[in-house]
Amino acid sequence: MPTVTVTRLLRFNAAHRVHNPALSDAENAALFGKCNNPHWHGHNYTLEVSVRGPIDARTGYVMDLGKLRDAVERTVVDLVDHRNVNVEVEFMRDVNPTTENLVVGMWRQIEPALPEEVRLVRLKLWETENNYVEYDGA
Ligand SMILES: [Zn+2]
Repeated sequence: MPTVTVTRLLRFNAAHRVHNPALSDAENAALFGKCNNPHWHGHNYTLEVSVRGPIDARTGYVMDLGKLRDAVERTVVDLVDHRNVNVEVEFMRDVNPTTENLVVGMWRQIEPALPEEVRLVRLKLWETENNYVEYDGA
């Protein structure tokens, strides 16, 4: 059967503060700008989850996208949506919550929750309308 990549988008919002405690306050402010605000701030994130696998002869699907949505909601979105990433999100504990670090943490949450017939091939995490990061598990 042909192998196809399918993608599901999920949206959430979350607060964070990007901050490296090993640096001075001035260095943090210079490096991270608005994202270093000590009083927190939020983003409206969009997460694109792409899985790849053979088309199932019975369903014509690679994977039911509703089931993909459920898996990502359970392992990631329900844990971060309307939360403070620095304080409330266990899988980001002691990690500076840049978009890069967030996407890697999300990969580690999602990948073990997927069925055997598909492989997680890409996460794309949009922090703003202008900025996104991509991760392929490397
Ligand atoms: Zn920010």
